[in-house]
Amino acid sequence: MNQSKIQDYLIKNISTLKGVGKKTKNLLKKKKIEKVSDLLWNVPHGFTDRSNVQTLDKLEIGKITTIKVKVIKYNFPRLRNLPNKVICEDDKGKIDIIFFNSREGYIRKILPLNTLVIISGKINYFKKKYQITNPSYVVPINKEDYVNKIIPKYSLTEGLTEKIYRKLIEQVLKNITNLKEWHSNEILKRIGNISWSKSIFNIHENKENNFNSRSHRRLAYDEILANLLVLSQVRKRIKKFKKEKKIFDNCLEKKLINNFNFKLTNNQIEIINEINNDLKSEYKMFRLLQGDVGSGKTIVSFLAAANVIRSNWQVTLMAPTEILAKQHYDLAMKIFKSTKVTVKLLTGKSDVKEKKLIQENLKNGKINFLIGTHALFQKKIFFKNLGLVIIDEQHKFGVKQRIELSNKGGKNCDILLMSATPIPRTLILAVYGDMDVSKLIEKPSNRKNIITLSKPEEKIEEIISFLKKQIKEGNQVFWVCPLIEESKKLDYSAAVEKYKYLLKKFDNKVGLIHGNLDKNEKNSVLNVFLNKSINILVSTTVIEVGIDFPNANVIVIENSNKFGLSQLHQLRGRIGRGADQGVCILMYKKNLSENAKKRIKILKSSNDGFFIAEKDMKMRGFGDVLGYQQSGIKNFKLADPVQHEDLFKIAEDNIIDIERDENNFKKYDLLLKLFDKADIINQLN
Ligand code: ADP
Ligand code: MG
Repeated sequence: MNQSKIQDYLIKNISTLKGVGKKTKNLLKKKKIEKVSDLLWNVPHGFTDRSNVQTLDKLEIGKITTIKVKVIKYNFPRLRNLPNKVICEDDKGKIDIIFFNSREGYIRKILPLNTLVIISGKINYFKKKYQITNPSYVVPINKEDYVNKIIPKYSLTEGLTEKIYRKLIEQVLKNITNLKEWHSNEILKRIGNISWSKSIFNIHENKENNFNSRSHRRLAYDEILANLLVLSQVRKRIKKFKKEKKIFDNCLEKKLINNFNFKLTNNQIEIINEINNDLKSEYKMFRLLQGDVGSGKTIVSFLAAANVIRSNWQVTLMAPTEILAKQHYDLAMKIFKSTKVTVKLLTGKSDVKEKKLIQENLKNGKINFLIGTHALFQKKIFFKNLGLVIIDEQHKFGVKQRIELSNKGGKNCDILLMSATPIPRTLILAVYGDMDVSKLIEKPSNRKNIITLSKPEEKIEEIISFLKKQIKEGNQVFWVCPLIEESKKLDYSAAVEKYKYLLKKFDNKVGLIHGNLDKNEKNSVLNVFLNKSINILVSTTVIEVGIDFPNANVIVIENSNKFGLSQLHQLRGRIGRGADQGVCILMYKKNLSENAKKRIKILKSSNDGFFIAEKDMKMRGFGDVLGYQQSGIKNFKLADPVQHEDLFKIAEDNIIDIERDENNFKKYDLLLKLFDKADIINQLN
């Protein structure tokens, strides 16, 4: 095949391969294999040794063995549930070959009487006879070489056998030699100097099969680069979208800032300027504001909103939950009180009349600033002239949803996303490379670092008396019971028990929030806590991200080694949002492992979410970091952010180089297609 034929072939549907009918196609789909190249990413995770050829007097039960035998007799019982049987022999003994679910005709064809055949499979022993049940291979004697060897072991699914898979892989391997290289020599050298096809061959012919082999790294690099490439393309395209510039002076912004009872940090000012420049530019803003919990993102976004409103455009802000939307609304009402800005809140709770009025006033432009939940965006709401969408805590949005958001906002709508999910540095570009990123690192100066302590469970009485003192001083407390996925019921009952225990200790001023509550019940408990009718809130679930409980200064986390580091850091971020000293108490069961001790030490020593995320990933491995799946962080097929950290760095250099010239992107067309990235770019309109 010539170059373009190979390229086409690789991205063709799997059903173009010989031997793939409807059934196999569906089985492959289960393994997420839909086009020819997908077969190749299913990297063997070991091998089966079929080179163990034995005569029938040397069989070992349970061992995968290859035998060379003569077919001497059939037994087709023609009764349901009874298997077909073929008796074979060599000059040392006899063996039964058993077939469940195979037809007589087929068996006669692959095992003709009185011929020599090669059979490979696991040896069993049944009623004093050796047998092989549903052998993996039955081939004529001249095909011995095909079976008698070490064969790659693939992750497959029932019905999709090694034999079938091998046939497909071998078919593909034959067709893809000498695919032209897409990397520059310089990059190639940095990633091990091995071609794409050579890597594929090495891996599938079982010459190299570990994560850090040269071949695997080469392919992992391709995957990483494909990710960066698509995001970079999206960013470049969106940045070319022209919009009407926003024209504003800083009157309103200044007025608001003067009314704050705190001073903005330099970092906040810096980012506000960045955003203002984007707003004033003739190109669409597509920016992520990333900052640790409590770093003061909301205020920054409100100032951006003020400037957009000042230039006669409307703004909407969407939060992940109703209670958070309400909190943003309350803050906005306070901040914009002495101005002419009209702020409204629209949630599932707003009554029909109210909703109608809001919809009307959005259309005629009377409302300047609409606050609601993410669900708002799905609804049919029409703005007169929407100039900015702010999305708070958008960590569940992937690149596709972000593009959708940009499309829906319309031509003149700038986009500002905010997230507190601490993405390890290694992954920032692979996750957010489509956006400009502002990082809010500096914490407000009045913010004291939270003191983190650890206590064994037996010392619960000490904790209780500490809490009593805190409550006397007017502070509130979160008490977190861990959620163990396997048993929600047990978690629930443990939390209820703790709740009852704490009720007694604290004059009934304790609330309980858990996963079985519906939204309204949850909100009402949170509200009771917010208005201080209770002092302690026991929870099984992670307390809503982003809600400001200025009065909660203590958090107790039970069985804390059940949580990941990043999760603990997020939990800890729920407190210490006012000016008072926050205290986080990590409770643990006796006999902590070395690893657990190390984790506690990291938390005690750092308040930097990024640093902690990085450590977390390195200690537990990328796959194990809870919450990454949900947070839209890529699930890689070949790359591993921990093992291949250096490759991510190389890809970052590489992408800067590629971005220098638009023509460079064309070289990677195939790469994008191989990793299913081409469609994402087409989604941009
Ligand atoms: P997050 O980044 O988690 O969204 P918020 O914007 O909710 O953080 O800010 C947390 C708290 O800090 C709020 O009560 C906010 O008013 C306050 N805050 C924001 N900026 C400053 C600052 N520069 N100095 C003092 N407090 C601030
Ligand atoms: Mg926030």
